[in-house]
Amino acid sequence: MNEDIERILITEKEISERVKELGKAISRDYSGKDPVLVAVLRGAIVFLCDLLKEISIPMSLDFLSISSYSGQVQTGVVRILKDLDQNIEDKYVILIEDIIDTGLTLNYILRTLKARKPAGVRVCALLDKKVRRIVDIPIDYRGFEIPDEFVVGYGMDYEQGYRNLPFIAVLKEEILGK
Ligand code: 5GP
Ligand code: MG
Repeated sequence: MNEDIERILITEKEISERVKELGKAISRDYSGKDPVLVAVLRGAIVFLCDLLKEISIPMSLDFLSISSYSGQVQTGVVRILKDLDQNIEDKYVILIEDIIDTGLTLNYILRTLKARKPAGVRVCALLDKKVRRIVDIPIDYRGFEIPDEFVVGYGMDYEQGYRNLPFIAVLKEEILGK
């Protein structure tokens, strides 16, 4: 696995420090609001697990699964594969995403969730590939802005592999091209 890596973009230590700050900010902003953290499967789960431990206020958890990339190519079709288990009406929702690229996926999810009349919906994304944005998405809690490169690790995959890398990395061209 390590021989497939071109370079490490964000180290384990950098991620952990940033995640702590995000957890503190959410705990401060949502005190008394009992928020629902909604993680988008599967890429966001490593981020979610670390973030959860840094949140010091009562909260609950739910999951959403949507169809997205197959390999590197965007299908353009966003479909809900697994919906939330709970009713979010009048709840404060925080959407947890691994990475925002064009913004199309999140735009769709936000519209769907807002139609259910929550008290509020905010976005927490670990990575922001800003230069690729097509739809303007407000990111309320952002880990890092990254350049236009395909990244893996810390939950994020390439053809379902590399999710278990503890850092965020760019793969060698020969791996992505094959
Ligand atoms: P968007 O709809 O914003 O273009 O794409 C969002 C989703 O595409 C992310 O949640 C993520 O699952 C996937 N994605 C976008 N860029 C990357 C990337 O660089 N690496 C990986 N592994 N997934 C990505
Ligand atoms: Mg995702």
